[in-house]
Amino acid sequence: MSSQLDLIVRGGNVVTPAGVSRKDVGIQAGRFVRIAPHLTENAAQEIDATGLQVFPGILDAHVHFNEPGRTEWEGLATGSAALAAGGGTWFCDMPLNSTPPVLDAPSFEAKTKLAAEKSVTDFSLWGGLVPENLDRLPELAAAGALGVKAFMCGSGIEDFHSIIDAATLRRGMQRAAACGLLVAVHAEDEAMAESLVEKARARGATDVQSWLETRPVEVELAAIGRAVELAGETHCALHVVHVSSPEGLELIAGARRRGVNVSAETCPHYLLLNEEDTLRLGAVAKCAPPLRSEERRQGLWQAAINGLVHTIGSDHSPAPPEMKQSQDFFSIWGGISGVQHAFPLLISEALTELPSTRALPWLAGLLAANVARRFRLPGKGAIAEGRDADFSLLDLRKEIRLSNAALLYRHKQGPYDGRRCHCQVRQTWVRGRRIWHDGSIAPHAPRGHLLQPTS
Ligand SMILES: [Zn+2]
Repeated sequence: MSSQLDLIVRGGNVVTPAGVSRKDVGIQAGRFVRIAPHLTENAAQEIDATGLQVFPGILDAHVHFNEPGRTEWEGLATGSAALAAGGGTWFCDMPLNSTPPVLDAPSFEAKTKLAAEKSVTDFSLWGGLVPENLDRLPELAAAGALGVKAFMCGSGIEDFHSIIDAATLRRGMQRAAACGLLVAVHAEDEAMAESLVEKARARGATDVQSWLETRPVEVELAAIGRAVELAGETHCALHVVHVSSPEGLELIAGARRRGVNVSAETCPHYLLLNEEDTLRLGAVAKCAPPLRSEERRQGLWQAAINGLVHTIGSDHSPAPPEMKQSQDFFSIWGGISGVQHAFPLLISEALTELPSTRALPWLAGLLAANVARRFRLPGKGAIAEGRDADFSLLDLRKEIRLSNAALLYRHKQGPYDGRRCHCQVRQTWVRGRRIWHDGSIAPHAPRGHLLQPTS
């Protein structure tokens, strides 16, 4: 008698970075154990995935769920539920916007405890890298931080200080490298941005266009240039988050050719929206670096297709509606909410850029396999025997219209309302348990696990 599996997903188009092929997927004890064109085993449960794509669980290394301390902005329960609705199975929460920010072991433990109680997906945590906590990096490494994040410009959060001088960033990278921590940077040059803001304010500017002009691409390039130079000098692993321009990706590619250990993240909004959208939509499409020109948006796609982007993170960064309303665009809280709709929409748009046989494997790399590799999560990132059974079932057969009314966020705001989308997330599974099914979170969805990078 053949062995009994927990679950077989039959007849779906299984997506891996190597290609798409019709296969049966066998799952036992939370892992993929058998993947073959036709499984003869029996299973306690079978699902028919004919006509659907079996896509690896999306790994989102860049979210701000704001818990503890600012749960009125989002929270781990709503944030992780929205991620699951968008096909995501793991997130890594940024160290700031939660209070206290994650700058040492006690704050790391406090957030871990909350996430283990509330998150329906697996998770990891970023630690912070601020001028005051260089001595706490070993304890963050020991606690299992995915890496540490530094701001090269103001973070907007009072209890999370930026590192604007090269000497401190160099020292931070040296310390991080010594304890095996990767450093992520928000790369915008504080001095350049501030002087542009001062000039705009001096003439009384409050409008969207004037704000966009305070963060030209040169502000991003100056900071990326400095960060990659210091990473090369200190042999620190560097991850540049939310690169918004093809020029920024070129700078990083050049550093990699010189042997610098650096990777580039971009976000769906830089690929799906442009600065016209900020002018049209206002606050829900304000972020830093800002959305770029249509020409740069297209250039970013090209650069990403050419392999210059390594990971895609949502940078889901919500705030209460009151903070998104002001006549003065400069004072509106920045951040785009996108963890639910942006990934399906990105998959949908990629299908218009590339044939599906290329688009889907390419995104399986950027949204899953590359993330697991870069952040040393060997059990994650692919539909492959031995890995955690994290996947979604995607329906690409019909067009839907995205609606903010369907958002599971604490605040139903986002820039994709009304967009046509050819990708619908039917189900999401984490470690062999279904957490999202045709429009709702499973009533008894299990809670996620903390993942620590392997050393
Ligand atoms: Zn962010």
